[in-house]
Amino acid sequence: GKRAFVAGVADDGGFGFAIAKALAEAGASVCVGTWPPALGIFTTILRRGKLDESLVMSDGTKMEFERIYALDAEFDTFEDVPQEVRENKRYKEHGDISIQGVVDRMKADFGEQPVDIVVHSLANGPEVKNVLLETSRKGYLGAVGVSAYSMVSMVQRFSPIMRQGGSYLSLSYMASERVIPGYGGGMSSAKAALESDTRVLAFEAGRKYGHRVNCISAGPLASRAASAIGF
Ligand code: NAD
Repeated sequence: GKRAFVAGVADDGGFGFAIAKALAEAGASVCVGTWPPALGIFTTILRRGKLDESLVMSDGTKMEFERIYALDAEFDTFEDVPQEVRENKRYKEHGDISIQGVVDRMKADFGEQPVDIVVHSLANGPEVKNVLLETSRKGYLGAVGVSAYSMVSMVQRFSPIMRQGGSYLSLSYMASERVIPGYGGGMSSAKAALESDTRVLAFEAGRKYGHRVNCISAGPLASRAASAIGF
């Protein structure tokens, strides 16, 4: 069977959860990556059965996540994680929460080529509530780093452990191509970068590894991330 890794699942209300479930319905084993600040609540609501209804698949069985990895997509390797983050109470018990850290854990857990499908369903814009005209360099680069460069890094780092014919998917939003007031902080820029990078990564990873790279521009969904900015 196929194994998928879905990055950006911390509840049952977003695209990541729905994609994970669709992949499980199709017979895949599904591992997820969860942002450390959201991981404690996620595992608690899972344990307490609060997601049981959402986890029921069409055959009546309950979807199980094969693994839940702590992942902060702001960091490519453990060396990139600042000391104060490593010592933060939400991070310290998880060790290497970088993108490479998840790659290494999957290898340790399942072997040299453990994955067929990698889904990037995460985004963050620290200044998303600021219009672009009032966005700082730090906020802009933060949005592009977590929401777009993280995909470049994931394709770089997962490709050596992805089987031939494997596939990547990320999620964009129409604000990359049209003005959508409220989608600020450089998030519109991040989605434009993500879409452009998808074309280049598909070209490069296709030739180098035989992997596909795609991006879907999703319609509006009242996920946690979208509700937080009033969408
Ligand atoms: P969501 O809140 O379910 O998912 C976003 C996830 O990103 C959260 O689980 C959050 O914890 C995680 N995250 C934030 N910073 C992170 C980091 N540094 N490292 C790792 N994870 C991090 O919301 P969603 O709306 O389903 O978002 C999923 C994807 O869909 C995003 O790329 C989003 O931009 C995109 N999208 C959403 C909409 C919409 O209307 N909701 C529309 C188009 C595209």
